[in-house]
Amino acid sequence: MTARVGFIGLGIMGRGMARNILRAGFPLTVWNRTPSRMDPLVQAGAQPGKDPADVAAQSEIVVLCVSDTPDVEEVLFGAHGVVQGARPGTLVIDCSTISPQATVAFAQRLGERGVHMLDAPVSGGSEGAEQGTLSIMVGGDPEDVDRAMPVFQAMGKAITHVGGHGAGQTVKLVNQILVVGNCLAMCEALLFAQAGGVDLEKCLQAVTQGAAGSWMLSHRGPQILRRDWRPGFTIDLQQKDVRLVLGEADALGVPVMVSSLVFHLYRTLQRRGLGHQGNHALIQALEHLSDIVVGTEEAPSHGEAA
Ligand code: NAP
Repeated sequence: MTARVGFIGLGIMGRGMARNILRAGFPLTVWNRTPSRMDPLVQAGAQPGKDPADVAAQSEIVVLCVSDTPDVEEVLFGAHGVVQGARPGTLVIDCSTISPQATVAFAQRLGERGVHMLDAPVSGGSEGAEQGTLSIMVGGDPEDVDRAMPVFQAMGKAITHVGGHGAGQTVKLVNQILVVGNCLAMCEALLFAQAGGVDLEKCLQAVTQGAAGSWMLSHRGPQILRRDWRPGFTIDLQQKDVRLVLGEADALGVPVMVSSLVFHLYRTLQRRGLGHQGNHALIQALEHLSDIVVGTEEAPSHGEAA
């Protein structure tokens, strides 16, 4: 029998993920803090929930995709939180990127009420969420992973069970170390290309297809050339992940020099009020250091959003 699914958090990622769950034929109840964001899903056939507790009461599996650790805590354990409506046996799948240690604690608190939990952070950007091609890194018990698999398959392609509770979040932070390292390398490279006077489109075309190619370069490189700072992933949320990386790395005694550098560069952009822009807008921090502006000859001046 097809499980009744609930989805909480219809932001840049959640709206595409929820739509793909609906398309796969699951009866779906949705809730979003800002109610107007539910409208497109409701028009497509989802039921609107009153609050997270109501979503949990209507569902056997509840998927969350909200911003940060305190937000997950509020949605799960707040006044009208998931635990108020969940029954023993309800499965919570948290697709947000949050602290691995808090995840272990949340799973334990839910477990005391007979509610199961998987951490299942995702990678692949807004494009992957819309196209149902996300990579999903899952932590939790194998029986719960089996039960969740049809829902995962509606949202993603590479679904990897990486360990127990919290392991999915740890692997997601590994992913984020790679993402920000790729992003900084892309920004340095495009600045270098601009200063070297080569055709940026041709340069991108050449290097994207060789050993230096990456998701970041293919998806965000062209956006940089257009000076299109619309977010697939905002600087504010990227910085939240870098902060999680720095905290975990400190606890583990691991040097993360590139992530630390990126943290400080993003901080300068946040101070200039650019935290709502996409994470590829990192290049604007390097432009300020060098006084070189990447893009067309008529490129706008520093900090201007296209
Ligand atoms: P987003 O567009 O800012 O959406 C955030 C969502 O969380 C919104 O629905 C927001 O509700 C909801 N929310 C935040 N705080 C809440 C609270 N206290 N109570 C209830 N709802 C709350 O962010 P996003 O890009 O979709 O990212 C969501 C999660 O996925 C984050 O953990 C992010 O790190 C992760 N992620 C993002 C990407 C990406 O490329 N964008 C990729 C992989 C993973 P409102 O609409 O009311 O603000």
